[in-house]
Amino acid sequence: MGVNDGTVIGSELVLDHGSPIDRWNLTLVSDGYTEEELPNFRLHALEFITLLLATPPFAGPSAAINVYRLDVASAQSGADDPAPCGTGATADTFFDATFCGNGVDRRVLFVDDTLTLNTVYAELPWSHVILVIVNSTIPGGTKRGVITTSIHPKGLATGLHELGHALGLADEYDYSSTCAESGRDFHPAVEPAAANVTIDTSTLKWGHLVDPSTPIPTSTSSDCSVCEPPGLSPTPPGTVGAYTGGDHYHCGVFRPEYECKMRQFGEPFCAVCQERIDAVLFPFYP
Ligand SMILES: [Zn+2]
Repeated sequence: MGVNDGTVIGSELVLDHGSPIDRWNLTLVSDGYTEEELPNFRLHALEFITLLLATPPFAGPSAAINVYRLDVASAQSGADDPAPCGTGATADTFFDATFCGNGVDRRVLFVDDTLTLNTVYAELPWSHVILVIVNSTIPGGTKRGVITTSIHPKGLATGLHELGHALGLADEYDYSSTCAESGRDFHPAVEPAAANVTIDTSTLKWGHLVDPSTPIPTSTSSDCSVCEPPGLSPTPPGTVGAYTGGDHYHCGVFRPEYECKMRQFGEPFCAVCQERIDAVLFPFYP
């Protein structure tokens, strides 16, 4: 792992909306690409930027955003995929990307956060959020000190979900690792800090976005010991209310819409998540 496993090649400003002093700066950095494979990383970075700008609300305030790309070559291609979740495959990569980062869930994709932060800040000290694109088609991504995504066909959408975490959003799904795990029946009686989940429907923190005709709570669970079955929305898509389940618990917690990118990676961000992202980016508008 580390600097003996590759080389920092250099950086490029790939979405330029002005001085980094004034903008919200996202840096995309490579791991698990050999030097010969770095042209692929440049393509994957462009794909991510295209997806970002096609995903509301990012297109609207895009003038607030700069995107940088930091090219780092790894000695070997791919990522570690250790037991018990993976195949046991290993790869000597610069930032030591590994699936199964928590020891139980293969999609938990960790890198060496400290090395990543130090390496990026040495080149691009104004970076607000760092997304490591890992050259593996295994699905995965995580928010820790930095955010990560693989290049699985759904992977770049995973990167947008992880970007939501970096902007202060919580998961809206109702489990932690898998639906099989226990201990996820009722949310602790503590209000989450995130804007998009709540335990309190009486002073609903996104109440200004709810139509008075929408019942609160908008959905309930008939069995708090299991994950909510998919496809049971009681309302049309885009209806803001208070739906049971979220923040890794089945009951005792509510999310703003039935679907959202913070719940299903292929969905749009819900209205509450979009409002939160807009609020974070607002100070960086020209
Ligand atoms: Zn949401």
